[in-house]
Amino acid sequence: MDKEKHFEEERRRMVQTQLIPRGIADESVLEAMRKVPRHRFVPEDLIESAYDDCPLPIGEGQTISQPYMVALMTECLGLKGDEKNLEVGTGSGYQAAILAELSGQIYTVERVEKLSKRAGEILKALGYINIQLKVEDGSEGWAEFSPYDGIIVTAGSPDVPEPLAEQLSEGGRLVIPVGGCYSQELVVLEKKNGKLERREVCGCVFVPLVGRHGWEK
Ligand code: SAM
Repeated sequence: MDKEKHFEEERRRMVQTQLIPRGIADESVLEAMRKVPRHRFVPEDLIESAYDDCPLPIGEGQTISQPYMVALMTECLGLKGDEKNLEVGTGSGYQAAILAELSGQIYTVERVEKLSKRAGEILKALGYINIQLKVEDGSEGWAEFSPYDGIIVTAGSPDVPEPLAEQLSEGGRLVIPVGGCYSQELVVLEKKNGKLERREVCGCVFVPLVGRHGWEK
């Protein structure tokens, strides 16, 4: 079988066996997960594990999240198609690509320059023109383009960073793992009348958000 066909088949299987049975129901999210070539975002030597039911190392001590967690966090944003979103923790660029399939403009911040550069190259090669990247402490958000309809933080934080709450638009959703350094709760905050309504989704394990409004190290 031709290589791309093989990976397309793997994506189909990933959606059928990992996402639908665990309750991911938003058809547009499932479609994006079937479409984006996750194998392009993982290191060359892990390409055959790209669609496995787990996170994978991407270098610099960081990871590309498990497919289910990417789908769940995306579904939690409740995207309709024209939103402006901020991602904190670009990592491999995979989550940004999924968001770019489902909304208008994506801004994504990564603190590790090498990862951001690699993610930018892959996203460009895949033809994404609605993703803007920068290297910075994303716990400060990206004030220049705020407010955002959706903010997704793909690293675990001790608390909700104040700048991110401020940069969320009225009616917008902030999806973030909050808790300890080794395990967190996935939390969805929705801004209603200027206040944040909080909903806890499930337990999760993310690498730490390192920055002024996250962990020190
Ligand atoms: N979303 C990524 C993907 O699709 O591959 C996975 C991200 S990985 C689980 C978490 C990322 O957050 C790491 O690349 C890490 O360097 C980054 N990170 C940690 N603290 C950060 C901060 N303060 N600002 C920006 N990025 C940060």
